[in-house]
Amino acid sequence: MNHDEMMKKIKENQGLSRRDALRMMALSPVAASVLASTGAPATANASSSDAKGRVVIVGGGAGAMMVLARLRRALSSPEITIIAPNDKHVYQPGQIFVAAGEYAPEDIIFDNTGYIGNDVKWIKDEAATFDPDNNKLTTKNGTVVEYDYLIVAAGIQYHYEEIKGLTADMIGTNGISSVYLNDLAAGTAAGGTLTHDWFNALHEAAKTSKPRVICTQPSTPLKCGGAPQKILYLSDDYLRRDKLTADFTFATASDKLFSLPEIDTALHKVQEEYGNITNKFGHDLIAIDAQKKIATFHHKYQVQGEFDKDLNEYDMIDKEEEVTMEYDFIHISPPSYAVDAVANSLLAWQKGTSKGWLDVNRETLQHRRYKNVFGIGDVCGIPMGKTGGSARHQGPIVVGNLIAVMEKKEPLLKFDGYTVCPLKTSYGEIIMAEFNYDGLAPSFPLDPAQPRWIWWAFDLYLLQPMYRYLMLNGLM
Ligand SMILES: Cc1cc2nc3c(=O)[nH]c(=O)nc-3n(C[C@H](O)[C@H](O)[C@H](O)COP(=O)(O)OP(=O)(O)OC[C@H]3O[C@@H](n4cnc5c(N)ncnc54)[C@H](O)[C@@H]3O)c2cc1C
Repeated sequence: MNHDEMMKKIKENQGLSRRDALRMMALSPVAASVLASTGAPATANASSSDAKGRVVIVGGGAGAMMVLARLRRALSSPEITIIAPNDKHVYQPGQIFVAAGEYAPEDIIFDNTGYIGNDVKWIKDEAATFDPDNNKLTTKNGTVVEYDYLIVAAGIQYHYEEIKGLTADMIGTNGISSVYLNDLAAGTAAGGTLTHDWFNALHEAAKTSKPRVICTQPSTPLKCGGAPQKILYLSDDYLRRDKLTADFTFATASDKLFSLPEIDTALHKVQEEYGNITNKFGHDLIAIDAQKKIATFHHKYQVQGEFDKDLNEYDMIDKEEEVTMEYDFIHISPPSYAVDAVANSLLAWQKGTSKGWLDVNRETLQHRRYKNVFGIGDVCGIPMGKTGGSARHQGPIVVGNLIAVMEKKEPLLKFDGYTVCPLKTSYGEIIMAEFNYDGLAPSFPLDPAQPRWIWWAFDLYLLQPMYRYLMLNGLM
C-alpha cells in the first residue's frame, strides 16, 4: 500500500488496520523525520550522578512517569518515593479518538506498574497537604512523608459543579457530554466513550431534524485547550460524511479561536468550509437546565463609546450580561484548576493570575520560593501549555535541574514553553500547532496552519505507541 492508498483508506474510514498503518508509517521517510524531530530535546539526558537524597514524586500521570524514568536512570543510587493513587494510567490525548470512534477505550488505559520499578517506593494514596517549610507532606490516609527533594506532578482537577445545575454524573444524559470526564485516581476514562455515544445520538437525531449543538470552552486554563474545537469539528464531520447536518455553536469565554493569529485564521477558514458553525465569543457557561435543555452564559463584551480627540480613538466600554441558549446537544469543557492539595498549599502562587497553580519559574521549573521543589505538567502555573507535549519537553529540564540542585549547582536548563495542539479539523486532517513562549515553533519546515493528513496518521497510529513505549520510559 502506498501513501495515496493509505490516505484514501483513512479518509474513507475503511478501517485501515493498525499493523498496516504502523508498517506504512515506519517505512515512510516522513515518519522517520517526524520521529527524529520529535525526539529528545537537546538537553534530554542528564548525565549520571552520584548525588544522594530522598526524592518524592507526587502524581501518577504523564509528567510523573516521564521524570521517574529519567531520574532512575540518571541517579546511581536513587532513593525515590512516588505518591500516586492510580494503578492505571490514562493516555488522555486518546480520549478524542475514542470519542471519534477510532480507538477503543482499552487502547488508552495502561498499567502503571510497569513504569514504577521495584526500586521505587510506591505509596498508593493522594497527597492531601504540603508542609514545604518542613520538607514534608501528609497523604489522605494520614501518612507523613518527609523528603529532601519534591517533584509535583499532580495535574488538574475539573470543577463541573461550578456550572450551576450540573454535576459530573449528569454527563452522558439529556444530550450532555464531556470528553474530559475521567477519574484519574481510579484510572478510568469515561469521557471518550460517552462522547462517542453522543456523536451517535447526534447522528441519529440529524436524520430527522436539524439539532442545535453547543460546544463550550471555559474561562479557566484548560488541559489541551484545543480539545473543545476538536470535538466541534469531528462531530460536525461525523454528520457531514453521511450528508447530515446540524446547527453548531462554539461558545467560548475567549475572544478568539486560537491565541496565535496564523492558527486562528486557519480555524476560521475551516469553519467557513463547514458553513454551519456560529461562534459566540466572550461566552462562559455558568448554568444549565438539563431538563429544559437551556444553557446560561456570562457574556462579556465591549461597546464603542465617545470619540476621544486626544487619543484619536473611540473609548471602549466593558459590558456584561447573562445570555441563555436552547440546545439539543451540548459538549461541556469543565472549569479547571490545580488539584486542591496544591491549590490550597504554600506551594501555590498566593496571588495574581496564576493563583492556586504551582509557583514555579517558567524556565527552570524550580519552585520560586522552595528551591528543593520542582513541578512538571498541567499543575504548573506557567503561561503555556497544559499538554503532554509540554510535559515531554519539561521532563529533561526538571531532572537535569533537580540533579544540579542535588549537586549544589545552579539549575541552568531552561524550558522554552514548548506545547503542541493537534487540532483535528476533520476525520483525516490535523492542523499541528506547535508553539513556545516566542510564538510558532513547528518541528518541520511545513506550513503549520495547513490541515494535513500526515499529522492525522501520525497522531492516530504513531503517537500512542511512542507515548506508551518511549515517552513514559523517558526515552524521548
Ligand atoms: C481530552 C484531552 C485531549 C488531550 N489532547 C492532547 C494532545 O493532543 N496532545 C497533548 O500533548 N496533550 C493532550 N492532552 C493533555 C495531556 O493529557 C495532559 O497535559 C498530560 O496528561 C499532563 O500530564 P500531568 O502529569 O501533568 O497530568 P496527568 O497526566 O493528568 O496526571 C496527574 C496525576 O496526578 C494524580 N493525582 C491527582 N491528585 C493527586 C494528589 N493529590 N496526590 C497524588 N497524585 C495525584 C492523578 O491521579 C494522575 O495520575 C489532552 C488531555 C485531554 C483530557
